[in-house]
Amino acid sequence: MSLSTTSSLLANDNSHTSEDLYITKNDYEVFQSIRNKLKLVQRHIGYGNFNVISFDSMLSISRRASNIEEFTKSEIDFLEFIFYYNPATHGFFGDRISKNITDTIDKKLITKIPRTGHYLFKGHAEKTYYEMIKDVGDSLTLTSGIRSIVKQTKLFLDKINSTNGNITQAAISLAPPAFTYHSIGDFDVGKKGFGYANFTSKFANTDEFRKIQQLKYVDVRYTINNKDGVRYEPWHITTI
Ligand SMILES: [Zn+2]
Repeated sequence: MSLSTTSSLLANDNSHTSEDLYITKNDYEVFQSIRNKLKLVQRHIGYGNFNVISFDSMLSISRRASNIEEFTKSEIDFLEFIFYYNPATHGFFGDRISKNITDTIDKKLITKIPRTGHYLFKGHAEKTYYEMIKDVGDSLTLTSGIRSIVKQTKLFLDKINSTNGNITQAAISLAPPAFTYHSIGDFDVGKKGFGYANFTSKFANTDEFRKIQQLKYVDVRYTINNKDGVRYEPWHITTI
């Protein structure tokens, strides 16, 4: 597995220019094959279960399900690379949250939030969420909760696909698999019926967000010009 740049990488360069990191042509087929298998695994176990699935369960489903080919050695190598590489080389400066690609989520510690397809950790995160619903109103909903390493990998690879292979660009709007706070408790909220706009700056103009800003117990993790190199995310709630 290798990655390419069109010219040398500048460690602190945050702009999206010719220094951006891309998926190589050689890896393109492996990249697309993994995306397809992840989609099939998700379809096999369902959207909700896929949010919290471990790497080993993903592999075992690919072996058992008759409509899914087992992950190949080069696909697993690619997945390991994307988990263990250092994204600071392309301007993502967040903390590494997950240590091992095989880390699992303890099902006893989580709870499914009805009608959302998402999970939250029992205790602080769950309590914060329901407090917010009470204070903001029923028009607020959970748009993304706990994400396992596999789930974050799927989102990251899909994002890279939508940026035509540009990893630097993808990481500005979605953390690489080991770097998401969603795996340890952070969650995203949105306005019911607002759809994809919930994940754009439009959310900052909603009444729901205006009310959230008045809540003393709520912090938004990715503020404007945050040190992690992540875009402004008014919908992403800090729980750690
Ligand atoms: Zn988020």
